[in-house]
Amino acid sequence: MRKIQMVDLKGQYEQIKEQVNQSIQEVLDTTTFINGPQVHQFQKALEEYLDVKHVIPCANGTDALQIAMMGLGLQPGDEVITADFTFAATVEVIALLQLTPVLVDVDPDTFNISVDAIKKAITPKTKAIVPVHMFGQAANMEAIMAVAKEHNLFVIEDNAQAIGADYEYADGSKKKVGTIGHVASTSFFPSKNLGCYGDGGAIFTNDDELAYKLRGIVNHGMYVRYHHDVVGVNSRLDSMQAAVLNAKLPRLDTYNDARQLAAQKYDAAFAGHANIVTPVVKGDTGSHVFHQYTLRILNADRNALMQHLIDKGIPCAIYYPIPLHSQKAYADSRYNEADFPVTNQLVNEVISLPMHTELEDEQIKFITDSILEFLK
Ligand SMILES: *Cc1c(COP(=O)(O)O)cnc(C)c1O
Repeated sequence: MRKIQMVDLKGQYEQIKEQVNQSIQEVLDTTTFINGPQVHQFQKALEEYLDVKHVIPCANGTDALQIAMMGLGLQPGDEVITADFTFAATVEVIALLQLTPVLVDVDPDTFNISVDAIKKAITPKTKAIVPVHMFGQAANMEAIMAVAKEHNLFVIEDNAQAIGADYEYADGSKKKVGTIGHVASTSFFPSKNLGCYGDGGAIFTNDDELAYKLRGIVNHGMYVRYHHDVVGVNSRLDSMQAAVLNAKLPRLDTYNDARQLAAQKYDAAFAGHANIVTPVVKGDTGSHVFHQYTLRILNADRNALMQHLIDKGIPCAIYYPIPLHSQKAYADSRYNEADFPVTNQLVNEVISLPMHTELEDEQIKFITDSILEFLK
């Protein structure tokens, strides 16, 4: 059996080596390291894949979020509601822009932002909601868009973990996540579902005017060379990363299928176990692309289980061990522990198992057997 990896980037690279090497060689041969034709090609291909009018490539997923908020013209003191249970990047950029982060609880089944909690947190200062499609599963966009419309709020989708997932509307129609809110951000960090070989990110929107603004902001606020109309940043996807992404984007659906298949095998092994809650998928199978496969462990020692797995050479991780409202940087006297019953519980229950496109049946069996043996 191959050594089990949390994310097997090497195994995946072996499969696409020739094409990736050739694409990178082209960048080297032409030395168009910045804004080469690969970047434009990737932008167009991703717009087509997502069925979105504008993709604005940038340097990473954190920048993408920040630039989206800058493009919307959010001002210091504006309140932005987001999930308490997510990677810190989401709240970090809100704070950096001197907006006021308002963290709210999530739903225990999907780990996604709670619509009821959003409603309770809205004040006259609220300007935006940032749903995160957690672990690869679409947040409840229909309800979130309805709340946003009622209160005239922007919706910024943090789609770093769910690229390629479909959101299924109540009437059965579908859209790719990241194309439903006013604007969305994503990350091409190597371990994400569509990862490059360094840092990368992108912003998506269907709004022409906003797209124009965003293209200037990523490029030092320039719309005409050396004319700086707004304060911008320097945030670019480089040509080598775009070359890697051009090789991987046509395989994204196959990659996500492989993740879903691995998730089904995990689910089957754990079905009905009293101590294990397997991931709950709300829409059809396409609505969860399993960036992570995350279990909740009930009435058992989650940390001892984790050690048991590590002792057997099985990597695993706690995403996330501390709710954001309890982090030093984001603590706020306005928060009340009673408002976060779910995140406070989840941080003690969750465990994420190896999840990638190259998981073999034998590896899955070894992982599930090892967990079942511990929980007996
Ligand atoms: C990875 C991630 C980001 C940040 O992406 P980077 O490319 O690492 O900056 C933001 N939000 C979420 C939810 C993420 O998982």
